[in-house]
Amino acid sequence: MNVPTLEDLPNLNGKRVLVRCDFNVPLENGVITDDLRIRAALPTLRHLVNEGALVTTCSHLGRPKGEPDPQFSLTPVRERLQELIPEVQLMENLRFNAGETDNSPAFVEELIEGQDFFVNDAFGASHRAHASIVGPPKFLRSAAGRLLEQEVEVLNTLREKPKRPFVGIMGGSKVSDKLGVIEALLEVVDELIVGGGMCFTFLAAQGKPVGSSLLEENMIDKCRELLATHDSIKLPLDITALSSDGVIGDPLSGGEVRQMGTSIPDGWMGLDIGPGSAVEFCDVIAEARTVLWNGPMGVFEDERFAAGTRTIAEAVKDCRGFTVVGGGDSAAAAQLFGVADEMSHVSTGGGATLELIENGDLPGLAALRDSVES
Ligand code: AMP
Repeated sequence: MNVPTLEDLPNLNGKRVLVRCDFNVPLENGVITDDLRIRAALPTLRHLVNEGALVTTCSHLGRPKGEPDPQFSLTPVRERLQELIPEVQLMENLRFNAGETDNSPAFVEELIEGQDFFVNDAFGASHRAHASIVGPPKFLRSAAGRLLEQEVEVLNTLREKPKRPFVGIMGGSKVSDKLGVIEALLEVVDELIVGGGMCFTFLAAQGKPVGSSLLEENMIDKCRELLATHDSIKLPLDITALSSDGVIGDPLSGGEVRQMGTSIPDGWMGLDIGPGSAVEFCDVIAEARTVLWNGPMGVFEDERFAAGTRTIAEAVKDCRGFTVVGGGDSAAAAQLFGVADEMSHVSTGGGATLELIENGDLPGLAALRDSVES
């Protein structure tokens, strides 16, 4: 990845090190429901503490509006951090200051005050040119932390030297959100499975009716072009759909759930891949030596439309190749179906994962590469 790492920093004994972490953890009523992101920072923090550094961490949490807001306080994170590694300090939420997202030089100055070195370990925020990501390397000698290094290494391996066959699995709601990633993946994968809401724009591009399923009219031509130039795209052969009197997320609302082919009649909404597609996709995944999965196959939050995503999650788990889950909703689905621990790598980034696959670089990495020498 060609950026300095912890080994490139000089003697840290007694030095002050500012570490940008991604402690943007899920909270319910002020209680952390999953501390993965805090534990993921420990290898870096332990290394720095063992080297004798005085470590201050900083992070954003949620989307406060540039001013203090108690519901986004990092206090619960600070308490958990104290239990895990008491030597480390944590500043308050960076986004309590509008200078963070505005990348204001005055806020950068505030952040680096009294610090000797900077470490970026916030992979999940490194696609943003925010003050705490791109600012400190202009003034402090800087390095990537262990988590950032590992994430980048895994995703670059997929881009540059994947073991074959390499199977990409794309799902989620919209083609437009992930078009850049789809195009980048089509250059490197042997097969690209497409499910989720986005498959209906591809099916429409094949001339099929999609009923009231999610459709992006302005993407139909693009999907048609991709289908014409890439045999590697695999679309579902059957769909699980809901009748118009049903409500997504409310099984008690009534409505009929039916399995059908890929021509969806009026009054029906496709909400999951069907069982036949799931079996066929599983056969492709079983043969893979590399898998990258991003995005659910259906509205998995509603049990009636979770089967496709669950079956794919199991297939990726059982695949003996190198399996990577690309953050966001697919990481949540992998957790929900209890397969996350059996994947080779579950990325902690959502947007950052997609942007790195698409562009091969991130603003946070570029900043480290250009960081000052001393
Ligand atoms: P994304 O953030 O783009 O990865 O999309 C994830 C969301 O896509 C999940 O919340 C799913 O409920 C939703 N989704 C998956 N399949 C469908 C579908 N067929 N129709 C509508 N939404 C879907």
